[in-house]
Parts: sequence; C-alpha cells; structure tokens
Amino acid sequence: MTNTGAGVFVRAAADAGPLARFASRLREDAPPLAQITSIDTRPLDAAEIEHLDFRILASDSASSATTAIPPDIALCDDCLLELLDTSDRRYHYPFINCTNCGPRFTIVETIPYDRPKTSMKVFPMCADCQEEYDNPANRRFHAQPNACPYCGPQISWHEADGSPIACDNPLALAADALADGKVLAIRGLGGFHLAANACSDRAVDRLRLRKNRPSKPLAIMVPDVETARRYCHLLDEEATVLASPQHPIVLLRRRNRQELADSLCPGVDDIGIMLPYTPLHHLLFEHQNCPRALVMTSGNISSHPICTSNEAALAQLGAIADNFLLHNRDILTRVDDSVGKRMAGDFRLFRRARGYAPSPLQLPVLLPPVLGCGGGLKSTFCLGRDDSAVLSQHIGDLFNLQSYDFYTESIAHLLQVYDVEPELVVRDLHPDYMSSRFAEELGLPVYTAQHHHAHAVAVMAEHKLLDPVLAVVLDGTGYAADGTIWGGEILLSGLDHFRRLGHLSHLLLAGGDKASAEPWRMGLSALYQIMGRDCLQPKYLPDLLSSVNSSQREIVVEMMENRFNTIPTSSCGRLFDAVASLLDLRLRSDFEGHAAMELEALASRELSAGWLGRLDDSMKRLPSSFFALNHGIWEINSPEFVKMVFDRYASGCSASQVAGHFHIELICAITTLVKKFSTEHTIDKVVLSGGCMQNRLLMEGLFHSLAKEGLQVYTGAKVPVNDGGVSLGQIFIGGFQHVSRNSHESN
Ligand code: ZN
Ligand code: ZN
Ligand code: FE
Repeated sequence: MTNTGAGVFVRAAADAGPLARFASRLREDAPPLAQITSIDTRPLDAAEIEHLDFRILASDSASSATTAIPPDIALCDDCLLELLDTSDRRYHYPFINCTNCGPRFTIVETIPYDRPKTSMKVFPMCADCQEEYDNPANRRFHAQPNACPYCGPQISWHEADGSPIACDNPLALAADALADGKVLAIRGLGGFHLAANACSDRAVDRLRLRKNRPSKPLAIMVPDVETARRYCHLLDEEATVLASPQHPIVLLRRRNRQELADSLCPGVDDIGIMLPYTPLHHLLFEHQNCPRALVMTSGNISSHPICTSNEAALAQLGAIADNFLLHNRDILTRVDDSVGKRMAGDFRLFRRARGYAPSPLQLPVLLPPVLGCGGGLKSTFCLGRDDSAVLSQHIGDLFNLQSYDFYTESIAHLLQVYDVEPELVVRDLHPDYMSSRFAEELGLPVYTAQHHHAHAVAVMAEHKLLDPVLAVVLDGTGYAADGTIWGGEILLSGLDHFRRLGHLSHLLLAGGDKASAEPWRMGLSALYQIMGRDCLQPKYLPDLLSSVNSSQREIVVEMMENRFNTIPTSSCGRLFDAVASLLDLRLRSDFEGHAAMELEALASRELSAGWLGRLDDSMKRLPSSFFALNHGIWEINSPEFVKMVFDRYASGCSASQVAGHFHIELICAITTLVKKFSTEHTIDKVVLSGGCMQNRLLMEGLFHSLAKEGLQVYTGAKVPVNDGGVSLGQIFIGGFQHVSRNSHESN
C-alpha cells in the first residue's frame, strides 16, 4: 500500500471471493473520515504478486497531485474519552488527536500529507507515539499530527505584552480570567480567537469596545448540545450539525435571553453557536469556574485576516486582550470557523472554512485547469480541473493589503499543493476589485463573469444543473456592463451565458459608497422618487430620518436632481436598506447587511409559524402596479414597495407588521414574474442565489411559493449563496467560454 499524490495504491492478492469482499469492504468499512471518490482496479502481474506481505511503503510525491488535503476535524469521541481518563498517558493533553480527528489543512505545507510536510515536523515522536504510528491496528496508525505530553506541542500563558507567566496549569488560569470578565487571545486551530464571558455584559462590552466592533453579532461556544438547547430553539437536525465532524457555527434562534449578555447580538434574533472542537476547548470547559458560554470571535483587528502566529497576535491583539493563551504548533494555513444556518430543509453554509475547505467539489462536467478569482467582499477563489473544484476557505473582504496578501498567498499555496497550472483565469466584470487586478496580472487569458450570473451558476454547479435555468439573484451590489448597479435580478442562466429577463426597478444610489453604508440615504432617495422635493419636509418623514441634519438631506436631494454622483441600482440589499430606514430601524450600518438583518428580525416577529400559508392568499391580491415592462425587460416596481411601506407606517401600522407585509409582497411579486418566465421559456427549474438569500423569510418564502407553482427550486447548501460562492460560478462561465473559443479557433 502506498500513499501517492494521485491517491492510495493498494496491491492485494487472494482468491476471487475474498478479493471481491476486500474491494467492497473498502467502501463499506471505510474509516469515518474517508471519502472514497472512486476505486479503479487492474490485475497484478505474476511478478508483482510474489513476496506480497503487508507493508506500507513510503509516500511517493512524484506523480500528479489530485488527492485532496483533508480539512480539519473536531476532536472525536474516542480521543475525548482518553483526554478525560486520568489513567491515560494523554490525560488532559491539549493536542490529543488520531486518524479520525485533529488538525489537517491548517498544518500542511504540501502534499502528500505526511508528517515531514507538516508543522509537526519539529516534534520528533517519542517511542510510544512512534509505536502507535507504525501499528496498523492502532487508531493513530499514520496519524500525522500524533503527539503526547512528552514529545508534542505545549501551551503557555502570557501577559498582554507577551511576557510568559510561569504556571503549572495555564488552562486553570485562563478559566479564572474568563470568569473574571477578562478578554483572552487564544491560539487555536486555524488562527486566534478572542474569548470572553458571554454571560457578562461587562465582559462583552469590554471586548466590543477594544475590538472596535460596536454591534456586529458575536458567536459563542458552549460546552455541549444541552447548553445550546437552553439558550436556543434547536431542531434535532441542527444538533446533528453542531456535533458533526466539522463543528461549524450554527445560527440559531435565541430563546433564553436572560442568561446571555444583551450585547451579543443586538437587534437580531439569531445567535451563532458552536461546540468545543479542539481538546483545548474541552479542557477549558472542564474547569468548574469557566463560564458556560464564551464569546469566541475571530482574533483580528477590524477587517484584517485573523492572526495565526504568536508574534502577529501579540503585536495586533495586545491592546485588546488581557492575557494570551499560546501554543507552539505552527498554523501554516489560516482558516476561520465555518458559519451556516438551517433553512428550507437543509444546513446552508454562509462562510465555508474550517471543516469544509479544501474538500473538493465533484463537478458534473470536465473543466480545463482554471482559476476563478472571486469578487471583492467575502472573497474566495476557486481552482477547477477535470471534474473537481477546490473552493478556497473564506478569505474576507479584499480592502486592505493584509487581506490581499492572505488572498495571494492562499492562491499560491493551493496551486502548489494541487499542482495546478491554470490555462485561464476568470474575474468579476468589476475592473477595480483587487481580485480583478490580480487576475489581469497573471499573464493568462482572462475571462470575465457578471457577478449575478456567477452567483446563479454557483448554485447550478452545486446541483449539477447543466441546462439553462431561471435564476433569482437577490444581492447587495454587482457591476454590470450597462453602467447601473445590479442586485435584484431574474436571469435566464446557462453555464456560459445569460439573459436578463427581469429585475427590481431602479432606486437611486446617491453618494456612492456612502449610500451603501448609510441606509437613511436610500430611504430619502426612495421617498424623493415617490414624492419629489416634499421628502425634505420633516412633517412627511419618519422619526429617524427627520433627525438627520437638514443640510445633509438637502445635499442628497440635490445630488439626485443634478444626477451628480448618483447611480441607478436594482440592488435588493439597497431596497432593504431604504425600507429599514423608513421603519425607524437605523440610519447607518455598522457592517454589510446590518439594516437588512434587523428588518428580517422585525418581520419575523409578525410572521410566526404558519405564515407560509398566507402567501397563497397574497399572491391573488397582488396589485398589477407592482410590475412594468421597460424596453422588453420586466421590472418589479421598487418605489411602489417603498410607497406601500411608507403609507402603511404613516397610517399607524406597527413597524413589524409593515416589515412582514413587505417581505410577503416582495416574495409574491418575484414568484409572479418567475412563473410567467417559466411558461414563456418552458423552464421549470429555478435557482435562488445572492447575499439576500441569507434572509430566512425571503429564502423560505420563495422556496415555498415557487414550489407551489410547480417549479423545482434549488439553492446553495455546501456552497454559500453570498459572494463566497461566486468564484465557483466563475470557473464554469470562463471555463466554458474558453473551451468553445478554442474549438472555434481550431475549426
Ligand atoms: Zn480522535
Ligand atoms: Zn509522544
Ligand atoms: Fe454578490
């Protein structure tokens, strides 16, 4: 048996019966984490059969590398038992692992995945560990990160300035500090966490203040499923995901508001929860005084990538953390926690990282070697070759040099370990994204993909849909060739081309980027479209909007009148911003999607269980004024929606009633158009994509009402519907265009 870059090679000789049983048991009795993509067999030569005894040969790195690097996996039950067994030689050892669990992607330099090519190479195994490693009957047989207290990595406890504090049990001191309300920087699996007591407002506020993160929700870690159930509504399926080998953060609806700090996720109903996934996490919770819920947020400074090295963390987090809990096993690849939510019957990733990346995705077609560069926000990149694609871990927003370095280093790393030499590169249509500029500098043929088309194709790729489909893409912003900003689109989408069939009609984005960050600008500009200059009279304005300085309001209106720094947009995200500001939710967003998330939470209060049933009625009562045909393209009248919101709120309906109606009517309007296009084009498959589909009401409502119309509905699960999935769509769009251009030329 040999582990080669092309896969595992087994030579076996026996009678036909046992040999066939061996082949089938390879699949049936595969270890928990094994993913067998294919088994090829060929007969051995007589010479090869001689002297076959059980041997595992040294790995061979020469052949082409198509084997996946495994993702990092949460501590398994067997290791957990040993961790807590006083008689075990690894009792309370924070780096215990085995073939079924532990670090992988984060410690790999290159493949084949063997110890000398990982950051474990500096820890020679002791005799006991080596014996386990060499013994085929042992659970640690060829477990590359195998280690024990005598030979492996160690933890240490430090002051905020990095000076070490001598102690017997750093974890006991860490638990005490957390109970004390202190903020800790903890070195983990794929990077640092900032940790604090999630049950203490004082501790959470301290972390928020120091991290300059006023309101963005913070994820928490709790010791077990029972604790998660105490704080949240938890379906069995969600509990299964929480405890799966990947251990992602699962967004759950809060139910016990008293125990957790109010400031964890102000204004929204969901909280991100994960279970302990490294031995170190388990040991922290073993201490009686450790709080039962810990904030565990990315250890970074605002908009930078998470810190991985002790040096970088001390330099960047020294002003945030009171103490550091460090270790000396190097993190070679930075990987954040994955995040997702169960919606419309499936767990859907919003951030695909730890536990999932870089597992390859199986493709329905063959692609040339291709690199998809992604977009600007929530960036990922994607490598495609033959019938598989590797979607990178979440990289983040490419707005600063540090993130850009993370991006380019990750691309170089994955190209190297998978031994891919791209023939072509695909970028977003937006010429100014850092990812687009990167693509242009590679010296390869460059193809472009329209942002929302790429969103649609990502879902098509995940569900292996090869024929054209209808695509509903509800999103923030995306560049288009017509000089407007898109983001509320209904497309006829093929794998390499698309046609825009309909969209949300234009709102005016007055003041460029500021208009995205400050929802009040969208609210005011939408009112201007409805009532003209009257929107400047405070008597017409909702409370929050009238609190904006009158000269600032005047400037926005003047910009629109003069068409100065004003761009028409069909963005669904901006429509949500406008509505949120008109319902007095907020004037400014602290992070992308902030106002929209609060609007969803507000609407959820109105739309309780059974609301999907109400959709059918509303479909029948939908006013025709919601639709207009403009130059052959159907529009859903956004200002009409804004007017409806404004009128209802002014006439005394509660904000949550109005928000609920708004969701329902938007869902119905989109369904009506999709149904019409479905008949016209005889297509009955619809994909839902775009960042706004992270809104549970919107996604589940569309899922329900489109299915009710007899359509087959698909949306992202393993691949995020937000910009994290765009690079997967890109490799299809560019790859197909490349292949057809080449075949054209050779004709
Ligand atoms: Zn294990
Ligand atoms: Zn050892
Ligand atoms: Fe997008």
